[in-house]
Amino acid sequence: AGLTLQSAIQGAPDSVAIIVPSRPDALSVTYKDLVSEVASFQRKLAAIGIAQGSPVSIATVNSYEFIISFLAASWQRGIAAPLNPAYKQDEFEFYIEDVKSAIVLVPRGAYQSGSPAVKAAHKFNAAIAECYWDAAKKEVALDVKELGQLQGKPKQSILKPEPEDVALVLHTSGTTSRPKVVPLSHRNLTRTMQNIQQTYQLTPADRTMLIMPLFHVHGLLCGLLAPLLSGGSMVVPPKFSATDFWRDFAAHRANWYTAVPTMHQILLKNPTPSPLPPIRFIRSCSSPLSPTVFHALEQTYGAPVLEAYAMTEAAHQMTSNPLPSVGKRKPGTVGLGQGVEVVILNDAGTVLPQGQEGEISIRGENVTRGYLNNPEANKSAFTGGPGGYFRTGDQGKMDEDGYVVITGRIKELINKGGEKISPIELDNVLARHPAVSEAVSFAVPDEMYGQDIGVAVVLKGGERLAEEELKGWVAERLAKFKVPKKVYFTDVMPKTATGKIQRRIVAETMQKQDG
Ligand code: ATP
Ligand code: MG
Repeated sequence: AGLTLQSAIQGAPDSVAIIVPSRPDALSVTYKDLVSEVASFQRKLAAIGIAQGSPVSIATVNSYEFIISFLAASWQRGIAAPLNPAYKQDEFEFYIEDVKSAIVLVPRGAYQSGSPAVKAAHKFNAAIAECYWDAAKKEVALDVKELGQLQGKPKQSILKPEPEDVALVLHTSGTTSRPKVVPLSHRNLTRTMQNIQQTYQLTPADRTMLIMPLFHVHGLLCGLLAPLLSGGSMVVPPKFSATDFWRDFAAHRANWYTAVPTMHQILLKNPTPSPLPPIRFIRSCSSPLSPTVFHALEQTYGAPVLEAYAMTEAAHQMTSNPLPSVGKRKPGTVGLGQGVEVVILNDAGTVLPQGQEGEISIRGENVTRGYLNNPEANKSAFTGGPGGYFRTGDQGKMDEDGYVVITGRIKELINKGGEKISPIELDNVLARHPAVSEAVSFAVPDEMYGQDIGVAVVLKGGERLAEEELKGWVAERLAKFKVPKKVYFTDVMPKTATGKIQRRIVAETMQKQDG
């Protein structure tokens, strides 16, 4: 049979599913109320013509209404297409055109003020509706402002999703090239939900602080959906705030959270809560966690830090370090496959033995059936048709215990006269220097070698450091050919909305300073 986002919500009717700290009138929502609210919103979507395959774009911050509209769209066999609400009009246009949104859901007041999402939706004739908590009616409102292409569509009946239905469409982050469109089925999503539930042994007693945005797989799968499968609960602030984080965590008795390394670093720079609330584990994912930050987190918060590895095409998680009761944590690795088969392939597609570097490749029910409208990307990413592996684009190896070590993205490896240099290895060595707050390595053009190494460095407040001193630090720790040619000191490191480093952009920004 297989699960769907409808059958996979498995909490006990009277237990709490969602806590919204910013909503005084209805602070916590039980599973029973959640399910009836989704069903009622599904009827509203059906009434305006949403049916199988209709893309429903959601452009709101993390909220109760996001969760309700997301689930309702997928129950109605529609395709949820979450969008970063902070996008500018050009970006909204790109995404709305790419996924062919039937309707765009925006927050209250967005229509009146002509928000960028509204303008973009209007341009592509998508329906526009404000979606918000109606405190008087005590329900999530679907306030339709324009019917667009849904004009004249008959009311649809209430549908029931199938495991093979596409439930979600998201773009990759666009780190290495133009963002690619990834459709994910109910089967893909529920497989990941099970994998995450098993890795962290999530139970109804667990409660997470959901601080990752819901418009990417990280927040959606690990913050929202895996807890719903486990019957656990989540605290949902509208956005991450380092100053509110521990207050909400303690007040609502959360016991774990997942975030990107940047957020962990921001938390470490803020006061440590006293007394420390009990924390079962802290998960880090989506970008490399330097061993320095790993140790700082474990020491400061007295909880195991579990680094995981994920990507959009895999419906998020591929590997993770295990809980202490299951196995050892190895900083600098992303752990073991859980419900996902992981191998290292060479260019010819042969599986490499342990210790050898190649392309990290995966196989499993969580993996997308293929990019939308992108035969070229599909051809190079999937090896040997059905039953083949999906190539992640990441370079790495397996250590003696089968733990995966990521050494960089294939497109971002620095190729110095044929010598391949892992930017991540270099970043980690630089980050260990006491004056360095953040470091990002990348390729710079070089007459002799083709490519050489550039590094962008943010220093800790009040620190000063000479370029030669930093090069000396590397020379003492790594082979001579890994010493950077050029160090760019900068005040801020360019990042994406989710705190992802785009080496390509960092390289461009730094080299512009060169003139
Ligand atoms: P695009 O595919 O458009 O270039 P992207 O790969 O950044 O963008 P995502 O799907 O958001 O888009 O990110 C997946 C990638 O994030 C992985 O392929 C990997 O390179 C990186 N990543 C995820 N987790 C980790 C981790 N723990 N350590 C290092 N890198 C990670
Ligand atoms: Mg990618």
